[in-house]
Amino acid sequence: MAATTQCAICQKKKSRRDCPGIRNSICAPCCGAEREVTVDCPLDCVYLREARRHEWERMPPPQELPFPEIEVSDGFLAEHEHLIGQIGFRLLRHALDNPKTTDHDIQAAMGKLIRTFETLSSGIYYESLPEEGSQIGVFREVKKFLDEYQEQEKKRGALALPKEEDVIRSLVFLSRLAAVHSNRRARGRAFVDFLRHTFPETSAPKEESRLIFPGR
Ligand SMILES: [Zn+2]
Repeated sequence: MAATTQCAICQKKKSRRDCPGIRNSICAPCCGAEREVTVDCPLDCVYLREARRHEWERMPPPQELPFPEIEVSDGFLAEHEHLIGQIGFRLLRHALDNPKTTDHDIQAAMGKLIRTFETLSSGIYYESLPEEGSQIGVFREVKKFLDEYQEQEKKRGALALPKEEDVIRSLVFLSRLAAVHSNRRARGRAFVDFLRHTFPETSAPKEESRLIFPGR
């Protein structure tokens, strides 16, 4: 009988909470230590939700934002909000459809996409693919979206199609958002959660949906 009340992770302490990630009971310290590190936590877990609130308070800002050499002005953001929002929405949908996708996967894939578009803007297309499967999934999804977006804009008769440098800046902005919102746990999905709040599920982003840039 005693075994059933023991934490399924450390096998030492008394279990205090039902963990939907491992579908077993665990103790509070293991929940705190293993959450989004070794455990894939469902985004709706009450303990994860509670932890998120404190994460915000404790999280020191990242030491350096990704691609510091690339300038993203407020004017650029205002002008390209629609494109940025659409990419963010696709990232979210992909992450929800593929729950193993972590913030780290998204950040790694975005980095490779930025490098890919940099080569494109210098006249050659060289795909710098990420190495891991879930990162490749993100990479392909966003790349596919960007190709479709160009086609859509062309059909719509848009006067100016997004240039490579616009795509690069949009991706850099999203990478910075991810860096700021990530909780830096190995399987962390705090940025995915942020996107979920930015784009309430199933509804496409509207023109006026605003992404707030947290401190620069
Ligand atoms: Zn434990």
